[in-house]
Amino acid sequence: MKRKVEIAGGGIAGLSAGALFARRGWEVNVHEQGSEIREVGAGIYIKNNSLEVLEKLGVLDRIRGQGTVLERAQIQFADGTVKQERPLRDKSRVHTFARQVLIEGLRDAALEAGVNIVTGSRVTGALPGKGLLTADGGLHEADLVIAADGVHSAVRNSLKMGGGFTELPTIINRYLVEGRAFTSQPKTVEHWSGNRRIGVTPSGPDHTYVYMVAPAWDAKAARFPIDAEDWSRRFPKIADLMAVLHRAEGTQYHYGLVKCPKWSVGNIAILGDAAHGLPPTLGQGAGLTLMNAYALAHLVADADDVAAAVAAWEQRVRFISDRTQAWAVRYDWFTRQWPTSLDFARPLVAWSFGQFKCLNERMRVADRGLAQAGIDMMGEARP
Ligand SMILES: Cc1cc2nc3c(=O)[nH]c(=O)nc-3n(C[C@H](O)[C@H](O)[C@H](O)COP(=O)(O)OP(=O)(O)OC[C@H]3O[C@@H](n4cnc5c(N)ncnc54)[C@H](O)[C@@H]3O)c2cc1C
Repeated sequence: MKRKVEIAGGGIAGLSAGALFARRGWEVNVHEQGSEIREVGAGIYIKNNSLEVLEKLGVLDRIRGQGTVLERAQIQFADGTVKQERPLRDKSRVHTFARQVLIEGLRDAALEAGVNIVTGSRVTGALPGKGLLTADGGLHEADLVIAADGVHSAVRNSLKMGGGFTELPTIINRYLVEGRAFTSQPKTVEHWSGNRRIGVTPSGPDHTYVYMVAPAWDAKAARFPIDAEDWSRRFPKIADLMAVLHRAEGTQYHYGLVKCPKWSVGNIAILGDAAHGLPPTLGQGAGLTLMNAYALAHLVADADDVAAAVAAWEQRVRFISDRTQAWAVRYDWFTRQWPTSLDFARPLVAWSFGQFKCLNERMRVADRGLAQAGIDMMGEARP
């Protein structure tokens, strides 16, 4: 008889895990509270570790042409000087996509693998050893439950393990702008001016992804739609872009952080932002999610004792997410909170992380993927 997994949430975590378990012969139900599978936001950086999983799922081949393969990453200060430059190849390779392109690629892969996606189904919690609870009063019995319901996870909260979501005092505006007028080359540039940052990146042949980051207490920066004059004063070299952003449709968020004491409770696995939501400073939230989804299916799908395998999964892969989360928080602090009296040292720190491989590799530990957890994606996990 087929074993069954019930999944809360039809985002990147739920769809990727669903597709991976279905391909291993499991019956899969994904419960999504929304009326359709949809991503909020603009563009997304997809790094080596996520690309490895998307390749395995056949999703990368499907969406590659709608994205951009980046060649370089730069940090530029407001006067136009480049303070950090990194080539993006091998384990540092990065593609960018519109979010909707990625989620539709994952949705199609899930459907083709036989996943049953139930939209309009709100999950309220889970019972270890039993199954998933939905708002219509249903108990959906399962061999495995996956909590992939995002930073405010109802499943995680129902398990009463402590931890949870905290909002951080940083805001981010995101836009997907028509055209490539500001991004003729395949490079991503992050512009820095004091404790504000603007990232400008090509996202496929016809779009540019822009994000603007500032401390939440910076009242002028927090205005939305943006105060184009104020931002232009801070970033004179890209003032033309501000005029476009002032008219563009965007979204504004606060950074957030999820602390989750356990990712495994009996036969329940907590996955994605529900487990390790982090500030997007390293562009790795979806990367960790895809990597951990792959490892979960790899280690649990054929196991006789599901609960023991879920616990072993957490033990095996969690360190990569914990370290990445800690670095993402440091990066957020460094760019938001750095004292003005030490402004002279900021370029040096930015330069060092680009220049010294050991520093960069330590911070970008996730880029190297699951091999460092002993999971060779071309073969079997080492015992
Ligand atoms: C500003 C910003 C920029 C980012 N940039 C990047 C980047 O460049 N690269 C990168 O790798 N990552 C990035 N991330 C992180 C990435 O977006 C997340 O890590 C990823 O989307 C997590 O996917 P998820 O499926 O775990 O959660 P979500 O995307 O939140 O999906 C959860 C799903 O569950 C559904 N749901 C929620 N509650 C319930 C319920 N009770 N019942 C049923 N369904 C429910 C939701 O509707 C949603 O569809 C960024 C994040 C932010 C905020």
